[in-house]
Amino acid sequence: MRKKIVAGNWKMNKNLQEGVALATELNEVLTADKPNCDVIICTPFIHLATVSNIIDHTVIGLGAENCADKEKGAFTGEVSAEMVKSTGAEYVILGHSERREYYNETPAILKEKVDLALANGLKIIFCIGESLAQREANQQNEVVKSELEGSVFHLTAEQFANVVIAYEPIWAIGTGKTATSDQAEEIHAYIRSIVADKYGKEVADNTSILYGGSCKASNAPELFAKEDIDGGLIGGASLKTPDFKGIIDAWKK
Ligand code: PEP
Repeated sequence: MRKKIVAGNWKMNKNLQEGVALATELNEVLTADKPNCDVIICTPFIHLATVSNIIDHTVIGLGAENCADKEKGAFTGEVSAEMVKSTGAEYVILGHSERREYYNETPAILKEKVDLALANGLKIIFCIGESLAQREANQQNEVVKSELEGSVFHLTAEQFANVVIAYEPIWAIGTGKTATSDQAEEIHAYIRSIVADKYGKEVADNTSILYGGSCKASNAPELFAKEDIDGGLIGGASLKTPDFKGIIDAWKK
């Protein structure tokens, strides 16, 4: 059975003290009232080692928001997958649309990151999704297919078991516009079908596919009720414990 997951992406928010306070509060709340799903928080690099020592990893998983496309060496300012792993983190987000757009991360670069993350024992939350123009031109299926083909479909089935897919329509990220649950379900089912074409039905049935884009406590229950939506990748609403907890609790409804 595939996992239900609610993952937070803090992005470039929270200084160290604020991040420690948020992680501490979330840990208290979730250890007292255990979630019905896997919960992951993905934080800036500087928080990882400290937050790793605060959280109960049996209740909250920890991830980075990125890692380098090189193994080690003279790459000033970069943080390798091995370094991420050494903090106690278990996950890394790769392919977020903000990194593709603002930092020119191509499918080929992301493929390198994917390989290094897996080689260093990290699980990957791999983001895919179309822009508004692509949605309006009805190109969403080809976009998500080519993003998967370009960066993760070279993996073996065994490696692919460590990949969680996050479908995030770019037009819904941070905009307050959410894909309707029917729109999201349609493309999630398509994504599962192309995973099945590549790796077979069993692998596809075991792959968690998260929805991301202005997901909040008010719309999470309807989204998560859909057959092929296995949880959410949450930006803005992961920055306050009550908001994030509200989404996590959607799995209790
Ligand atoms: C994201 O960037 O991964 C995201 C889903 O952001 P938000 O929830 O703020 O739309």
